[in-house]
Amino acid sequence: MKKTLVLSAILGSLTLSTPLMAKEEFAIAIHGGAGTILKKNMTPAKQKKYEQTLLKAVNTGYALLEQGKTSQEAVIAAIQILEESPLFNAGKGAVYTFDGHHELDASIMDGRTLNAGAVSGVKTVKSPIALAEKVMEESVHVMLSGEGAEQFAKEKGLALVDNSYFNTEARYKALQRAKKKLAEKERELKDFQAAHETLPNNYKYGTVGAVALDKSGNLTAGTSTGGMTAKRWGRVGDAPIIGAGTYANNASCAVSATGHGEYFIRYHVAADICARMQYQGISLNAAANKVVNDVLVEAGGNGGVIAIDSQGNISMPFNSAGMYRASRSAGQAPYVAIFKDKNK
Ligand code: ASP
Repeated sequence: MKKTLVLSAILGSLTLSTPLMAKEEFAIAIHGGAGTILKKNMTPAKQKKYEQTLLKAVNTGYALLEQGKTSQEAVIAAIQILEESPLFNAGKGAVYTFDGHHELDASIMDGRTLNAGAVSGVKTVKSPIALAEKVMEESVHVMLSGEGAEQFAKEKGLALVDNSYFNTEARYKALQRAKKKLAEKERELKDFQAAHETLPNNYKYGTVGAVALDKSGNLTAGTSTGGMTAKRWGRVGDAPIIGAGTYANNASCAVSATGHGEYFIRYHVAADICARMQYQGISLNAAANKVVNDVLVEAGGNGGVIAIDSQGNISMPFNSAGMYRASRSAGQAPYVAIFKDKNK
């Protein structure tokens, strides 16, 4: 800390023409999941609602970064807006497990320290991302699950709610549709696992996430989700697994993923993108596209990522029909999109 102060004093005394002047690069990207409503089922009114919430989240994170707050603060604030919205599969609006409950997963990673916090299978914590942050900052562990995580939330004074707080009619209907389809397919294929694979993506996935670069050059990534519709109770997806659904390292990039979690775990998606950048010396866009559009597509893994590097470059590739997403870089207008045509 002291060293930093001395260094800033020296830097502060240098003339304006010094090439060492800190540049005030900052940026944020967010996603609201790859399991989008198909374009044919989207109405202009619905689309507006999604876009407004995405804009609110990205602008909130952006404003914090602009004020000089940390990427961690920006990521948490943006994710909490999406957790509170019933439109997205995280917090309120989380999907249902096969037996009709909600089990939430979340994680956060600090790219400067490589500290991380994650929670899985929590049922009563209003903001799972806030709990993940507490695990990162106030426990000696990286991941807490189930009852132990909930007890920790209680001890830390986080808001607790009844599991029914997360209920929404739309997700309940999605569960009923999923169960009906599953039963039909199971009869046909005689295999629950294979039947599960056939569920359409638009009611299987969701998840929210944010990645940001702050004015100090630090990266943070965070992800929060209800998981997959009709998942077996106790199932843990990629979102709380550091390296799979979330990863941040100032030396390369910060990534938050959404999609078929089992593939993201097996292909170590978030960390693989950062590793490719670091070890192959390729750009963020090249690394993210390689993993999402080659590696995952070849494996059959559906979904996408949002990623940002230490220069503030942003990449948001997905191999699904769409991905709710938004981004905003220093001094620029926000970008918001849902379907492929506005991909970047
Ligand atoms: N990746 C999440 C999971 O598998 C789901 C999602 O992104 O929609 O739990």
